[in-house]
Amino acid sequence: MVVACSRVDRNPDEVTIIAVSKTVGPAQIAEAIAAGIHQFGENRTLLLKQRQEMFPEEMWHFIGSIQTNKIRDFVGRATLVHSVASKRALQMISARAHDLELVQQVLVEVNVSGEASKDGVKPEQLPELLELATQLINIEICGLMTMAPQGDEAAARRTFSGLRDLRDHYAPRYSGSPTVKLCELSMGMTEDYVLAVEEGATILRIGRGIWSEPPLQGYQS
Ligand SMILES: *Cc1c(COP(=O)(O)O)cnc(C)c1O
Repeated sequence: MVVACSRVDRNPDEVTIIAVSKTVGPAQIAEAIAAGIHQFGENRTLLLKQRQEMFPEEMWHFIGSIQTNKIRDFVGRATLVHSVASKRALQMISARAHDLELVQQVLVEVNVSGEASKDGVKPEQLPELLELATQLINIEICGLMTMAPQGDEAAARRTFSGLRDLRDHYAPRYSGSPTVKLCELSMGMTEDYVLAVEEGATILRIGRGIWSEPPLQGYQS
């Protein structure tokens, strides 16, 4: 990651790595904490809740698709919810955050590549969500998230640069908004994190590359 940053003249401090712990058990999480990792990601609401209770000092990110009846499991527990993909989810998270008297930080997941298998709003739906967020005081949109097509380096790079372009396009419109701050770009996993860093990722979500021995190598362009 440091090598990828230096290649594109970025400061590694600008990039946060989240250890996606969905495939490992508590013992491995405890080991990672001992080794200095403090940000974890889960894609199941129940596991996020249980692990946040087990390791309350750590930062827990919710990265899975949102079922609106499971919102109670993660609002107020997740440091950042990466995967808001509907107005209804945004409204319900805000309502729950209001009940808990807190502000929930979230990202909007965008389906930049257009693959049917991917979650996220279409790029043209993004403005509606951002507009809605300006009316909600218990939510803060901190940026955007995407997943790239697997096994296709050029398509992954286009997806990441596409997300960055969306952020750069909409961020000026909301400068000064207390609830919409388009800073973060959550993009890049084990396979494609080098490309993501080169295209401006501020948050990497790494699973296999952290837990497997030896670490898997991503595209090394
Ligand atoms: C599992 C997962 C990751 C991590 O994937 P790896 O390929 O293991 O690095 C990242 N983001 C999301 C949304 C995931 O579900």
